[in-house]
Amino acid sequence: RGALIIKAGLTMYDLFTFGQQTLPRHRFFGKAESLVRRPELNPNIIATATYYDAWMPYPERIALEIILDAEADSPNHARAINYVKAVGAGYDTVILRDQLTGDEYTVKPKIVINAAGPWIDFANEKLNRGSRFIGGTKGSHLVVDHPELHAATQGHEMFFENADGRICLFFPLEDRVLIGTTDIRIDNPDEAICTEEEVDYMLDMVKIVFPNIHVDRSHIVYRFTGVRPLPSSAASTTGQISRDHSINTIEAGARGAYPVLSLVGGKWTTFRAFSEHVTNEVLARLNKKRITSTLKLPIGGGKKFPKKNRQGWINDMVLKTGLSRQYIEMMLNRYGGRAEDIIAFCQAENDAPLECVPDYTHREIVFLAQYEKIVHLDDLLMRRSLLAMLGKIDGAGIAEIAHILAGVLGWDAQQTQDEIARVSHMLITHHGVSPEKMGQMN
Ligand SMILES: Cc1cc2nc3c(=O)[nH]c(=O)nc-3n(C[C@H](O)[C@H](O)[C@H](O)COP(=O)(O)OP(=O)(O)OC[C@H]3O[C@@H](n4cnc5c(N)ncnc54)[C@H](O)[C@@H]3O)c2cc1C
Repeated sequence: RGALIIKAGLTMYDLFTFGQQTLPRHRFFGKAESLVRRPELNPNIIATATYYDAWMPYPERIALEIILDAEADSPNHARAINYVKAVGAGYDTVILRDQLTGDEYTVKPKIVINAAGPWIDFANEKLNRGSRFIGGTKGSHLVVDHPELHAATQGHEMFFENADGRICLFFPLEDRVLIGTTDIRIDNPDEAICTEEEVDYMLDMVKIVFPNIHVDRSHIVYRFTGVRPLPSSAASTTGQISRDHSINTIEAGARGAYPVLSLVGGKWTTFRAFSEHVTNEVLARLNKKRITSTLKLPIGGGKKFPKKNRQGWINDMVLKTGLSRQYIEMMLNRYGGRAEDIIAFCQAENDAPLECVPDYTHREIVFLAQYEKIVHLDDLLMRRSLLAMLGKIDGAGIAEIAHILAGVLGWDAQQTQDEIARVSHMLITHHGVSPEKMGQMN
């Protein structure tokens, strides 16, 4: 895109965030200085720039914490039901199926909000409201265990333009590096998988940016793909499709007694604004007034987060608990202000680090199983923690955690084995983990 455009964009970004003054301004470095600062970079670069942005290390945990907060705030009205799918509809009803038991329930809604992301059109079909709102694109990522590449990022997320014009990234995530991403149209999100061609594309990216750093398939500990719920579009390249969000409404009428509001597009960056927009729309339709603002409402671990006195909080916790500073800091990074309660839960009974994943303890897993709506083993490994994504778990670790969950969730020996087989299959077929690592012979 050229240095001038990037410079202009970053200047606008600084101006846009000027009033808030929470982040330092960007810095721009010419070729010579960039190569002094980052000698591993390709000498053909034009320039580099540094800017600051927010980072969401555990998006799945934020989704969960929103749910936990909503239920705690309104125990008589808010209810989250996990593993339940909208599978059909009558004129004024929706049929929900419990995916664990197969039981079906009929509900009579005033309004339906279809937040099924890339599955929005599939869900509308089930509600007898066939739509063509979504034109999803899949994006794959690799997680690599590569200390040299990790060091070369210098702790920064690095964006760059690939040969095809796509903006790609390297992102240091704990001691691993996330490499992403692709942007490929896909019709059925259930078919999305990170292909070998995508792996090649991403490995080739490393060669362009760091010609002397060698990364190959043996460094990959996890691969994954997701489908962006972008609006249906005739744009010639996927990069041109709008990343904005909108509510697409199918009003009540001949096909159904209730309106269906489909939430198209949207990103984590904008989820609060989008949620506010949807809530205002629903309140207006129900003729109700908003009784509280959520504009500055902290979520989950953001509530008691020691924003102003992080070190003081850590010192106090070290004194109070007798635990190491390193452990307290890790728990603060993992759970934010909820760390205090979780540590108290862990200390209430005998506790010990897991044998296979020593930075988690037995009681911590018990806490997650009891209070974080875990149904399957993969909920814990892939959505309540980064254990799978960072490649920190092998067959033995999976078995160790499965047996703790079994004790809390009442799984018998067969169900425990089924859960281990289910997650091992997912990791091997969808995430490129080797059967050997899962303790299976190839
Ligand atoms: C590759 C990639 C990179 C991204 N990068 C960023 C980024 O850097 N920054 C950023 O802010 N955002 C990013 N995003 C966007 C973000 O992660 C979300 O995809 C986006 O916010 C959409 O979330 P959603 O809740 O609408 O959909 P999803 O998270 O896809 O959730 C939809 C849910 O609906 C459920 N569902 C489907 N059908 C039914 C049914 N019939 N009944 C009941 N439930 C159903 C699904 O099981 C799923 O849980 C990225 C997305 C992808 C895919």
